[in-house]
Amino acid sequence: MFASVASTALVGVETRPVQVEVHLTGATKPGFTIVGLPDTAVREARERVLSALTASTFGVPKGRITVNLSPADLPKAGSAYDLPIALGTLVAMGKIGPAAASVVALGELALDGRVRSVRGGLGAAVVARRLGLPCVLAPDAAGEATRVRGCDVRGAASLTEAAGVALGAVPGTTTPPPPAVTVADGADLAEVRGQLVARRALEVAAAGGHHLLLFGPPGAGKTMLAASLPSLLPPLTEDEALEVALVWGAAGLVRGGSNLPPFRSPHHTATVAAMVGGGSGLPSPGEVSVAHRGVLFLDELGEVPARLLDSLRQPLEDGQITIARQGHSVRFPSRFQLIAATNPCPCGFQGDRLVGCRCTEAAKDRYRSRFSGPLLDRLDMRVRVTRLSLEEMTGPPGEPSADVQPRVAAARSIQAVRGTLNRSLRRQALDDQPYTAAAIDLLAAAVDRLQLSARGWDRVRRVSRTVADLAGLEQIDEDAVAEALGYRAAI
Ligand SMILES: [Zn+2]
Repeated sequence: MFASVASTALVGVETRPVQVEVHLTGATKPGFTIVGLPDTAVREARERVLSALTASTFGVPKGRITVNLSPADLPKAGSAYDLPIALGTLVAMGKIGPAAASVVALGELALDGRVRSVRGGLGAAVVARRLGLPCVLAPDAAGEATRVRGCDVRGAASLTEAAGVALGAVPGTTTPPPPAVTVADGADLAEVRGQLVARRALEVAAAGGHHLLLFGPPGAGKTMLAASLPSLLPPLTEDEALEVALVWGAAGLVRGGSNLPPFRSPHHTATVAAMVGGGSGLPSPGEVSVAHRGVLFLDELGEVPARLLDSLRQPLEDGQITIARQGHSVRFPSRFQLIAATNPCPCGFQGDRLVGCRCTEAAKDRYRSRFSGPLLDRLDMRVRVTRLSLEEMTGPPGEPSADVQPRVAAARSIQAVRGTLNRSLRRQALDDQPYTAAAIDLLAAAVDRLQLSARGWDRVRRVSRTVADLAGLEQIDEDAVAEALGYRAAI
């Protein structure tokens, strides 16, 4: 007796259909074999499935069970195939009708027959919609997957219930999805008092997608500024929000229906695998991918080890990261905007008007040497955040994000016509931009006076383009160049 139930496999953040074929033969000796490139966790399904079948009073088949996971060349990992294997076995045993096999099922079975959620439930619902089949998941995974419109998602808390929902005989159990985080829930620029220069810099960075370094004494508000960036960015479209939720799902995180671009702030003690993805078994996306279409905030940049900074180069350069694993490689998207923050020196008070710096010259030099190198080359803007005066601290709140966001959106729509964010403008495209004569003179003077490198010159021109876009100017003028030069503060 034979049954085949659809399931899915995560390949990076992509979800691919997998067919779980169960063959039952009336051999005298019972047995249970799984073939089709299973990893150890998949092979252990045998123990969980048999135990769950017993606990669910369906009983264990007397003959030999052979399970084939197809396509055979796709690596299968984890415990996600427990549920489809069990459903297939029940159909093959004749315990439930063959209609129960016409579903996409994904979930781990506990020994007592409960269904537990696994990574990839949202992706399974996307595949189920494509195949025109109902999707059977654990209750919480089903709750999140209800966001996939047009998919018949059915939650099941136990194997018995799963058999019922697969047949469409019972309503099932679905845990409501977590409330969606909206733009209104993010940190707001209104909470940042004073800091006119830094606020404007954040607006420019948001408009052009520029990577930004903020430096200043502790407590100056660098973190609050960084956390406000998502609320200035265009809200995610429905498709983008689903894309982000799929990445989060592959990382085992629940994103909900949020249209607020993600904000991630990994600690400087994070491992390289946590930062860029990896891990044992099924590779998991790292922080650079969880921040996809949003903001990655690196606080205390001076404390971030060089190997962690180096690991950011490929994702920053390519907008994706490739992880090789047992002859297979998976890709995770990683188009994020980087904000880094740091103290200007080890003690934090260099350049502060109230507290004197206690660092030796040698210590300052060592510290500064960490801020050179290829990663820092990608930071288009460097902005000093100063300590607030009492007047600023007690002054009125700043302009709220909701007032700044439309200006960012307008500048972004100008860039959309050019086909790329200003952050990604290459040298040729920068050469082709229209500049006023005075802007060209100022750029030329800056090359001499500031000894701008070719890369530095490109960065100034990119940021100038954004300042001009914010002003609605086709030509880049002197003011735009002057402002862009101001975002090159020296640490
Ligand atoms: Zn110092």
